[in-house]
Amino acid sequence: MNPLANGMLAGTRLAFTGDPLDWLEANVRIPHSARSTQWDRQTAPWWNDVIRDFTDPTCRQTFVQACTGAGKSTALETLICWAVAQQPGPMLSITQTDETSAEWMATRLMPVLDACEAVQPLMPSNRHHAKKTGIYFAHMPLILGGANVSNAQEKSVQYLLLDECWTYSDLISQFKKRLHDRWNGYSLLVSQSYEEPHALTEEWRAGEQFEWCHRCPGCENWVRPEWTNIKYDEAKNTQGEWIWGDLVASVRHECPHCGHVTADTAAGRRALTNRSEWRSAENSHVAGFRCRRISAVSVYWIRWADLVLQWLQAQDAKRLGVMQQVKDFRMQRLAEPWKIEEELPPLELEAAGYYAEEWADGRPLPTEAARIMTCDVQQDHYWVVVRVWLANGHSRLIWAGKVHTTDQLREMQVRLKVPEKRCLLDAGNSFHGRVYDICARFGWTALVGRGEDWFTSRGADGKPIRRYYSAPDKVVAPTHRDHLGRRVQVLFFYWASDPVKDILAALRNAGSPTWEFPQDAPPEYVRHMNSEKKRQTVDKKTKKMRLRWTATGRDNHLWDAEAMNVVAAQMLGLLPSVQGDASLVEEPNNDES
Ligand SMILES: [Zn+2]
Repeated sequence: MNPLANGMLAGTRLAFTGDPLDWLEANVRIPHSARSTQWDRQTAPWWNDVIRDFTDPTCRQTFVQACTGAGKSTALETLICWAVAQQPGPMLSITQTDETSAEWMATRLMPVLDACEAVQPLMPSNRHHAKKTGIYFAHMPLILGGANVSNAQEKSVQYLLLDECWTYSDLISQFKKRLHDRWNGYSLLVSQSYEEPHALTEEWRAGEQFEWCHRCPGCENWVRPEWTNIKYDEAKNTQGEWIWGDLVASVRHECPHCGHVTADTAAGRRALTNRSEWRSAENSHVAGFRCRRISAVSVYWIRWADLVLQWLQAQDAKRLGVMQQVKDFRMQRLAEPWKIEEELPPLELEAAGYYAEEWADGRPLPTEAARIMTCDVQQDHYWVVVRVWLANGHSRLIWAGKVHTTDQLREMQVRLKVPEKRCLLDAGNSFHGRVYDICARFGWTALVGRGEDWFTSRGADGKPIRRYYSAPDKVVAPTHRDHLGRRVQVLFFYWASDPVKDILAALRNAGSPTWEFPQDAPPEYVRHMNSEKKRQTVDKKTKKMRLRWTATGRDNHLWDAEAMNVVAAQMLGLLPSVQGDASLVEEPNNDES
């Protein structure tokens, strides 16, 4: 068939000039829907204005942060029916992977298109024109695929649908380039929320922000879907355990203005939906850019009691230092971005009044006693701190950050004039063979962090003493040979990571002038220094609870490197290390765990 002729044929179908929702109710069926097989504007009404955005020539982009279970797929399928039948144009629809895209196409999109009588005559007669990578209608291509570079680099389109784009923040701007600045280009971004910083933060700021609000039946004020409006009784027994039945029965919504109570029943939640509409925050925004948030609090088929149970479980995990469930609740259920700083307020770490840049030439600081370089080792990079210790035990950080190669590490050591003996690398990882080779090559020392509370060594007088690091030991580097082709031994120590991190935390909190970092420390520095929390864990051997420093999900590399610097300062006698005279206390703990 002549595509031009067919396009003109399609063009004649654009006669529908009424409310697009009327057309959808008349034409679209959702065969897989549990709620209503005929498309109905009352079913998931928060999507109606998203569809109107698509039909509004002044709207260039809509970004919807939607909770899981808000009916997003159905909305996309509905919108595609409308586009094919009434508003055709080259369209690219992207979801997480090629596989998820193909599955959605086969199980949901095709059945909806097939069930739409207005679309049926437009479907390509050649079966090769309807495949999992797209449907090539005579009057428009609908390209389908996963979020990958090849799909981001093909030809220009007019409509862009980006589903679950929180998972591919790096590609969003590349996909948007496929609109090629068309005057009539339109992007719909739909996603659960995301962890900041994220490319979507800017998309959200750029748009006019709409909240799905209800008008309170008690006071007629508009009420935003705040989680804090969901109330429940602290129904606990004398042991402090939840009485779940009483708790669930007490869950309700309370108006923040008048206290009006809505019970957690299907009718109660639906009644609020019937009184809901999108309300603009009237923030400054780019013309034609709109943002909408759909919280699970507003989705009437989701029981608030289920959300409360999920919330309480997340709070229990948070008390043990595990933040993942709180994060998921916020991003997936409330559709709000996650910022760990809001959950775990970091210590106010304040930089001291100097710049590392001033000391980049490696000249000594006044009253300098020693400078120590310590490195946390990763698969393909290193996190390094170089700290100068003064005679009085105070210290100043003169370099911190990430380097990519051992040659860069070496260059840093030489430039900052750190003696070989005072360069220490973390070998407590799966790359320890490589670490031992690096240490052998440059004469550096390896450190292995352990769970012990202390190590016992012999003091100068021969008496056993406890330290936070072991007696020195040696290991043969796996591949490095010296200039005569001989194997090389590397010096290494174990160190007791929990007590050393206690000391580091105390130093961190003491701050300047005891323990300083510069004004120009990299932005990761303060984040890493607040990356670990002390929390209860079960000792594998003793089965006893003990507090251990544990990563809270953020990168902790510079924190680890600073802890190693504390160990080295103890070895040099710049910080006290002796935990106690072993002869005065019980036998040392030789726990392997
Ligand atoms: Zn009210």
